[in-house]
Amino acid sequence: MKPIPYARQDIDDDDIKAVVETLRSDWLTQGPAIERFERAVADYCGVRYAVAVNSGTSALHIACRALGLEPGQRLWTSPNTFVASANCALYCGAGVDFVDIDPRTYNLSVDQLEAKLATAKSPPQIVVPVHLAGQPCEMDRIKALAEHHRFAIIEDASHAIGSRYKNSRIGDCRWSDLAVLSFHPAKIITSGEGGMVLTSREDLYRKLLVLRTHGITRDAPQMQEHSHGPWYYEQTELGYNYRMTDIHAALGTNQLKRIDRFVERRRELACRYDNLLTKLPVMLPWQDPEGYSSFHLYIIRLKLDRIAKTHRQVFDALRATGIQVNLHYMPVHLQPYYRKLGFKPGDFPEAELYSREAITLPLYYGLSEADQDRVVATLTKILS
Ligand SMILES: *Cc1c(COP(=O)(O)O)cnc(C)c1O
Repeated sequence: MKPIPYARQDIDDDDIKAVVETLRSDWLTQGPAIERFERAVADYCGVRYAVAVNSGTSALHIACRALGLEPGQRLWTSPNTFVASANCALYCGAGVDFVDIDPRTYNLSVDQLEAKLATAKSPPQIVVPVHLAGQPCEMDRIKALAEHHRFAIIEDASHAIGSRYKNSRIGDCRWSDLAVLSFHPAKIITSGEGGMVLTSREDLYRKLLVLRTHGITRDAPQMQEHSHGPWYYEQTELGYNYRMTDIHAALGTNQLKRIDRFVERRRELACRYDNLLTKLPVMLPWQDPEGYSSFHLYIIRLKLDRIAKTHRQVFDALRATGIQVNLHYMPVHLQPYYRKLGFKPGDFPEAELYSREAITLPLYYGLSEADQDRVVATLTKILS
C-alpha cells in the first residue's frame, strides 16, 4: 500500500522558480535574500528583529549564548520535546533540568514550574517553553513567574509559526525575550534546513548577528579599536558559522506567502480527524480556548484500558499498512545521554505516561481526504 508519511513539505512551481532565480543571481550566501526572509517573517509574526540561521538547533544555541548562558547556570525545559530544546544548554556548558508536562496540553505545566521554582535552591537562568504541535503554552503565566524569579524565556516555537495565544501571534515575543523557529521540511513552512531567532530587544539582536558569523563584527560602534582600514573587522566573541544561504532563504520567503493557507488546511484536517475519531477509545488533542494552534502535529493518546492491544502493537499495525505514524516525543530525560547525566525513569511521570500512549497521525497541507479516511479506517479496525 502507498505509504502515508506523518509529515510532508509542499513545494510548488513558484518555490522552484524562487530557488532557481537565486542560483542565477550574484549571491548564494550573505546576499539580499536573507534580509528579505528575515523582514518577511518578522512582519508576519509582529516582532522587531529576526536573525536567520542554518537550523532551529543553531537558533536555540545562539539564543542561549545571546542571553549569556554559561557553565554553572541552568536551563529548564519540557521533557516532551525534541532533544535540541535541551541540548542548547549543554552546548554552552550549562546544566539542564526539566519541568513535567500538563496532562491536557502536553506542554510544560505552569503549575509544576511554579512548584519547582518554589523549592529549587536557585532558579534557572533560562526557561524554554515548547509549543508542542503548535498548541501555545500559557505564556502570560510563565512571564509572570519569570519576572518574580528573574529568569529569561526562549520560546521554542519550532512547531508554532502561525499559532496565536490570546490574540498575540507566536513569535511576537510579547511574553518572552526570544522565540526560535525551525524550517525543517516537517515543519509548517520550510527552507530545506533553516531556523530563525526572533526578538524585540535590540541588545540581543546585535549579539545574535555577531554569534551567527564567527563572533565577527564589521560595525564600527561595536568595535574595540578604531578601524585600521577597509579590510578591518574584529572578532569580539567566540561565534560560529551558522549562516543560512540565500538559496534556502528564497525558498523560505516564498513558502511564507502560503502560510495562512497551510495553517487553515491543517486546522480543517485536524477538525476532520476530531469528527471521524470521536467514537474510538482515544483521547483527541484538547485545545486551550485561549490558543489558536497551527497544528504542526495531530497527536492522539490511546485509552489502553479499553483496547485489547498494546501501544507498540497499534503502532506496528499502522506502520504495516504504510501509515507512517510517529511518536512526539520519547521523553528527553530518558535518552541514554541524559541518563548519564543522572536522570532516570520516574523523574517526570506525566511525560513518561504520555509517551506510552501517544501516537502522531499523518497531518500535512497536501494530505488528501482519501488518505486521511484510510488512516481513520485502519485505526478503527485495529482498535476494534
Ligand atoms: C525541529 C525542532 C527543533 C530543531 O530544529 P532543526 O531545524 O531541525 O534544527 C527544535 N525543537 C523542536 C521542538 C523541534 O521540533
